Amino acid sequence: MSILVLKFGGTSVGSVDLIKSAAQIIKKEYDLGHNIAVVVSAMSGTTNKLIENINLINSENKNAHDDAEYDAIVASGEQITSGLMALALKDLNIDARSWLGWQLPIYTSGNHRHSVISKIEDEKIINGFKNRQVAVVAGFQGVGSDGRITTIGRGGSDNTAVFLASALNAERCDIYTDVNGVYTTDPRMADNVKRLNKISYEEMIEMSSQGAKVLQTSSVESAINHNVKVQVRSTFHPDDMGTVISDEVMNNESKAVSGVAYSKDEAKITVIGLVDQPGIAATIFNALSNKSINVDMIVQNNFIERKETNLTFTVPVTDLDQSVKILDDLKSSINYEKVISENNLSKVSIIGAGMRNQPGIAAKMFDCLSKNNINIEVISTSEIKISVLIDMARTEEAVRSLHQIFELDKL
Ligand code: ADP
Ligand code: ASP
Ligand code: MG
Repeated sequence: MSILVLKFGGTSVGSVDLIKSAAQIIKKEYDLGHNIAVVVSAMSGTTNKLIENINLINSENKNAHDDAEYDAIVASGEQITSGLMALALKDLNIDARSWLGWQLPIYTSGNHRHSVISKIEDEKIINGFKNRQVAVVAGFQGVGSDGRITTIGRGGSDNTAVFLASALNAERCDIYTDVNGVYTTDPRMADNVKRLNKISYEEMIEMSSQGAKVLQTSSVESAINHNVKVQVRSTFHPDDMGTVISDEVMNNESKAVSGVAYSKDEAKITVIGLVDQPGIAATIFNALSNKSINVDMIVQNNFIERKETNLTFTVPVTDLDQSVKILDDLKSSINYEKVISENNLSKVSIIGAGMRNQPGIAAKMFDCLSKNNINIEVISTSEIKISVLIDMARTEEAVRSLHQIFELDKL
């Protein structure tokens, strides 16, 4: 009997009525004879509210900051929805059981708040399948080597689902959300966006890592590493097959650009007057990575006559304070003049596998931004992506004009 993993995001389980509707989608697949493992997020808004409360305590007393307690608090949202979903299924006369990260267990490694799933024990789920029991797994959480609850980063339930699909050798992992697939850009940002019926793993990973939160980046990495077939589907239009993410070549390879992504949570840090000698960049980036801080764009300018360099990089705005503190702590071991930081920035990216074969794409992007009088602060590129850092207030304009200039409305 084939196994399916069905994941329901926050808006799909945002109320008891919505949980009941999602249970109907599960029932339909169950009645077709599949064995089903469901992964649920917290009800929409719940995780943000929990984090707000944590921040209220932390802002009053900086010593209260403790990532292990953060995890214990934010993981509670998924505990509620997994129990409610199991009840909703039982109400439809389907045997179901909820499972928290520590109960299966879902083992994780790394630091609290940014843990990484290393293994999912599926024995209890498989035993349930023998009696046609549906497993309802709490997304986003696991258990760490210290035996405590961990979480795996915002949007992490996507990765719980894909990792579980791999552990169970599932036929498919369906990600049910509030849009019916992956679009040329965020449908909230522009008119005339086009739904992609298929997208390659490599383009999806660039889209996600540049901010398209419809799939969390680590879930796409897991799909690639374990060859899991992922479909992004709408909870509100469940008959629509959505977007298939696979290793097939993209359907619009002839186009240089397939999508525009943006991320509004960017902060820029510049270390001024660093001594120009081997090992300095390694010291800085090792210190940041030890705290699981994800550095993205990096630019370094050397002043050869002065044997000095300026180092600029971006981090998620939520990690800005901690990053500046790490640089402060390093001041005694590495020599630099000062650190300047800036937030209220966005990163806007164009992505496309077709970029490899078509010259002039960067020039066209920069020209479009300049015609709109949008200043570029930092640029970074990969083989199939160009990203720019700009003033956050100009994000919508930049996304819309790039979407139009690369004719993404005409797929
Ligand atoms: P869930 O709560 O189901 O996990 P998310 O809010 O994390 O849902 O992701 C879905 C959202 O992703 C959509 O509502 C949409 O605004 C946003 N999004 C950003 N970029 C894209 C894109 N390229 N295609 C589709 N949705 C996108
Ligand atoms: N509830 C978590 C979050 O809001 C995880 C998820 O929804 O995937 O980030
Ligand atoms: Mg999500």
